[in-house]
Amino acid sequence: MKSVTVVDHPLVKHKLTLMRKSDTSTATFRALLQEIALLLGYEAMRDLKLRTERVQTPLMEMDAPILDGKKLVLISILRAGQGLVEGLLQLVPSARQGHVGLYRDPRTLMAVEYYYKVPKELGDRDVIICDPMLATGNSAVSAIDRVKKSKPGTLRFVCLLACPEGIANVHQHHPDVPIFTAAVDEKLNDHGYIIPGLGDAGDRLFGTK
Ligand code: URA
Repeated sequence: MKSVTVVDHPLVKHKLTLMRKSDTSTATFRALLQEIALLLGYEAMRDLKLRTERVQTPLMEMDAPILDGKKLVLISILRAGQGLVEGLLQLVPSARQGHVGLYRDPRTLMAVEYYYKVPKELGDRDVIICDPMLATGNSAVSAIDRVKKSKPGTLRFVCLLACPEGIANVHQHHPDVPIFTAAVDEKLNDHGYIIPGLGDAGDRLFGTK
């Protein structure tokens, strides 16, 4: 399938520019990530299945479309993925959450798992894995590998920024997983950072630097 959706709405572009600026405060960065998550989620959830429910309007009864929020599982790749998930939860508050703890070995840039907890029985659920930066793609590939073992109903990957190298890595290993992003930047540098990027998303989100 190999799909990448770049959500290039003017609102998304504007907010991403503010996030890139090195003098943007932690509080503003955090708020903007949540706002962009809403706009990315709007696209990423476009084909979620609806059921109908009989409702009484002030005038009559009707069969109205409704989401089954509990069927949606938002999985954050710790720690920065949690910033995106907080935004998506505003769209679907009853979604379930999962967490994958991965750190990047600074020498090999490979993902090393230290935590994994997701809802049981992903079989009939729509799963969205979230990580703001699709850089080398190693964390995304590793998280997708792990989640696929539980055979989710559908699986998508949402990020804020991607680069060609990260997209190629995910496509090579998981061509069936659609990627949603606000932008695709130029390249990766030798330290595995996206260029021009926005720096370390976790540090900027949590104010740890
Ligand atoms: N992780 C980040 O936080 N930033 C990058 O540029 C790459 C990976």
